[in-house]
Amino acid sequence: MNMQELFRDGRQVLSFEVFPPKRTSSIETIYNTLEQLKDLEPDFISVTYGAGGNPADSSTCQIASVIKNRYHVLPVAHLTCVSTTKDNLETILKQFEDAGIENILALRGDINPDIPPAKDFIYASDLIAHIRNRGGFDISGACYPEGHTEAMSIVTDVLNLKKKVEAGATHLMSQLFFDNQVFYDFMDKVKIAGIDVPIEAGIMPVTNKRQIERMVSTCGASLPRKFTRVMQRYENNPEALRDAGIAYATDQIVDLLANGVNGIHLYTMNNAYVARKITESVKNLLHR
Ligand code: FAD
Repeated sequence: MNMQELFRDGRQVLSFEVFPPKRTSSIETIYNTLEQLKDLEPDFISVTYGAGGNPADSSTCQIASVIKNRYHVLPVAHLTCVSTTKDNLETILKQFEDAGIENILALRGDINPDIPPAKDFIYASDLIAHIRNRGGFDISGACYPEGHTEAMSIVTDVLNLKKKVEAGATHLMSQLFFDNQVFYDFMDKVKIAGIDVPIEAGIMPVTNKRQIERMVSTCGASLPRKFTRVMQRYENNPEALRDAGIAYATDQIVDLLANGVNGIHLYTMNNAYVARKITESVKNLLHR
C-alpha cells in the first residue's frame, strides 16, 4: 500500500507504534496487545527496530508479518542503518519482502558508543536513497518538531529533513512532543522549506512515573508547565497519573486534529488499554 493513498483528499490518519518485547521468548505478549489494537482499526501499526542501538534480531519482521497476515492491518517496519552493512541490509530487505512487508520507516538509529558504526550509511537519507533505488518498498522517515538533539539548529535539521524527502521518503512521522505550538511552528518551517509530504504528529501518553523520568533524560522534548503541573500532582498515584496522561494526550490530539494535521502517530508503549481510551475519544474527530 502506498502511504500517500492513506492521506488522499485530506484524510486524517491514525496509526500506532509498538515495540518487540525485550526477550524473544516473550514474543507472544505482543500478540495479545495486537489482538486488542486491531479492533481499534488503525490505518497502520509500526514496529520499532533494535531501539537504543542494540543489534536487531528478526522480531520486527516477525511481528510486522503477524500484523499483516493474522490481523489484516497495514504494517510499517522500522529499520535502522547505523550498524548495518549493505550486504546485511539486503538480507533484511529480502526477509521483509518474503513476509509481504511493503512499508519501511527508514532511520539512522541512535549511535551506541559500544557498537562502532558500520559506515555504509551515514544518514537516514543514505538508507532512503538506497532503498528507493533498489525498489520494492514505500519509505517513510522520522522528523523532529524541536530539532534532532545532534542538529545545530532547528533550521539545519529541517534542511536535512528536506534531503530525506528528496531521497525518497513519501511520509514523515514526528518525534513525540508535549506542546502543540512547537509542532505548529515546526510545520511553518517545513512549509517554507518546500517539504510537501504528509506529516504525522507523534503523541505519547505518559501514564507512569518511569516514563516521565526517561522522557526528561533521553528525548529532549520540552515539558510545558501545564504538563509538569499535572505530572507532579499525580506522580505518586498510579491510577490518577494514568488517567491524567490519557486526558493530556487526548487534549493534544483534539487540538491537533482541529488544526488539520495530516495524522496522529500514537506511541502506544504496548499498552492497549491506553490506546483504546484515547482512540475511542477521538475517532469521530478524524476527517475521513
Ligand atoms: P538522520 O535523519 O540521519 O538525522 C540524524 C542527524 O543527522 C540529525 O541531527 C540531522 O539533522 C543530521 N542529518 C541528517 N541528514 C543529514 C545530511 N544529509 N547531512 C548532514 N546532516 C544530516 N530508533 C531506533 O533505534 N529504532 C526505532 O525503531 C526508532 N523509531 C523511531 C521512530 C520515530 C517516529 C522517531 C522520530 C525516531 C525513531 N528512532 C528509532 C530514533 C532515531 O533512530 C534517532 O532519533 C536517531 O538519532 C536519528 O535517526 P534519523 O533517522 O532521524 O537520523
